[in-house]
Amino acid sequence: MIVKLFCPKCAYEKTKGFDGHASLDVPVPLTRLSDSGEYEVKCGKGHESSVILDNVKFELLFEMGLNAIVDGYPREAVSSFASALERFYEFYWRVVMNHQGISKDAIDSSWKTLSKMSERQVGAYVTAATLLTKKSPTLLNTNKEVPFRNKVIHNGYVPTTEEAISFGNVIMLLINNDIEKLRELAATVLDLTYKEQSPHDYDELEDDGDESIIRGCVNILTAVDVRHPPKGNDRRVGGVEEQFNRIRKEREPTRMQMLSAEEMKKRFPDRKLLEMENEP
Ligand SMILES: [Zn+2]
Repeated sequence: MIVKLFCPKCAYEKTKGFDGHASLDVPVPLTRLSDSGEYEVKCGKGHESSVILDNVKFELLFEMGLNAIVDGYPREAVSSFASALERFYEFYWRVVMNHQGISKDAIDSSWKTLSKMSERQVGAYVTAATLLTKKSPTLLNTNKEVPFRNKVIHNGYVPTTEEAISFGNVIMLLINNDIEKLRELAATVLDLTYKEQSPHDYDELEDDGDESIIRGCVNILTAVDVRHPPKGNDRRVGGVEEQFNRIRKEREPTRMQMLSAEEMKKRFPDRKLLEMENEP
């Protein structure tokens, strides 16, 4: 999977004295996904800066699974989808803990005891979901998806593309239904948890007046998306197969549209496409 980045310094120059809207070519740099979410960018003009990817892990892992299918690697797709679900369980558990008013330190230290064993994490998720929704959650089918996943991950089974798509669809549905529930029952802490778990440091000072350390921040829109769920004629609407054209399209060179916060609100009242950390 490739992430489209931009040069925050060029972007910053473009926005000097702008009327709320400017655009910037994004031919390169493109980069591979990094675990930390931080990217060093060097543009054609020789600017060096960093861009932070403001997404949570499971959104990106699911997107990696989709990309793997597009590229012809169904086995890697299954592995990424399975990891997306595991990281989603953690995210869900953290939302519910926040909802209960538990301190960040206690949440982090409890997670440590769960983090090395996936069965414990499923248990934590089941408990959290039951607590929040008063119902038993839907899990992967122990006669179908669980043995399939194990066969792929532990026994080296090479699935067909159709099997990978069908596994991805099951996981996509589980995650999206749960995010929907979280939006309904715990919207405020959902946002708070997202900010805690994203590599973007929301506590960092907005502008310290030093142009040499302009940092960019980009949120990519994903098939499973906490903050910007696909709706209407969004290209992300639909199941796994519906994402493939979008992904191919996203790999083409683009122009990045930059909007001031005000202009952004006007055009996309319920959606944030891109944030510049240092807005003029
Ligand atoms: Zn530049």
